[in-house]
Amino acid sequence: MAYEVPALPYAYDALEPTIDEATMKLHHDKHHQAYVDKANAAISGTDLEGKPVDEVLANLSSLPADQQGPFRNNGGGHANHTLFWESMSPDGGGAPDGDLGAAIDAAFGSFDAFKEQFEANGVGQFGSGWTWLVLDGGELKLTKTANQDSPILEGQTPLLGNDVWEHAYYLNYNNRRPDYLKAWWNVVDWGKVAERYAAAK
Ligand code: MN
Repeated sequence: MAYEVPALPYAYDALEPTIDEATMKLHHDKHHQAYVDKANAAISGTDLEGKPVDEVLANLSSLPADQQGPFRNNGGGHANHTLFWESMSPDGGGAPDGDLGAAIDAAFGSFDAFKEQFEANGVGQFGSGWTWLVLDGGELKLTKTANQDSPILEGQTPLLGNDVWEHAYYLNYNNRRPDYLKAWWNVVDWGKVAERYAAAK
């Protein structure tokens, strides 16, 4: 079955004022759709057609050589954005508790220190890309990727990612990427991140 853009689990305006309705509509309906269309084109007719996007990214070298680049960009875009929509909620914000909260404190010193480094990675990503919390060999790590590269390409499991492409924030925040990164914590669904952590570790 071809890839499809998943429906948002909330209304387009549900994340306001952190993310405005116009940005959500363009980002979900236009940008994500374009990644899906191009990912489908890149995988069509190959042996991996019909496989889950995460599985294909983990086995990218199994694709024909001339489709690996297009799928890295567009399959990556599909995987990253699917995780992104599901990582946010109008009831989000606050801090992680339980196992995840304890693991973040242990890995990064404190929740505030974690947020500071996650934001710094987003600010420091030159050009387009993502800032991530990943599980890597059983350890929590903070990382960033360029373009639509998924941490799955590095053998890591993405737990939380924020999109720092200008299309994610420019309408509302203009050039103020640091302000967007700071405000974004208000909509993070830590319950969802904890589910991913429990499943991955
Ligand atoms: Mn995006």
